[in-house]
Amino acid sequence: MSAPTLFERIVAREIPSTIVYEDAEYIAIKDIAPKAPVHLLVIPKAVSTRIDEITGEAEMGRLMLTAVKVAQSQLSDYRLIVNVGKGGGQEVFHTHVHILGGWEEGSPVG
Ligand code: 5GP
Repeated sequence: MSAPTLFERIVAREIPSTIVYEDAEYIAIKDIAPKAPVHLLVIPKAVSTRIDEITGEAEMGRLMLTAVKVAQSQLSDYRLIVNVGKGGGQEVFHTHVHILGGWEEGSPVG
């Protein structure tokens, strides 16, 4: 068995994080190095390496609906980003969805 990923260890409370949402299947935390005024990560508790390993429509739907629900709880406008694989900018190989927002109106968001 491979070593648990950083996010498995965060889900298990072995590594501290700021948890903003949790249910039976997902946890949402503040990103440790925020790239926006609000930067959250929605992390499934079930282990998968990257989002394209999730093939079930219901599971994919619940992940995205949870990301939208968490985003809407803090933001009116936002970005959802998923980095998939090293070439896609993924650094932590446990599926997660980024929520970014909170920029001042009119400011560039890159
Ligand atoms: P990725 O590049 O894999 O899509 O995103 C991984 C994210 O995890 C990055 O935005 C990074 O700042 C965040 N991150 C890395 N280590 C930690 C940590 O220990 N705690 C938290 N809360 N976020 C982390």
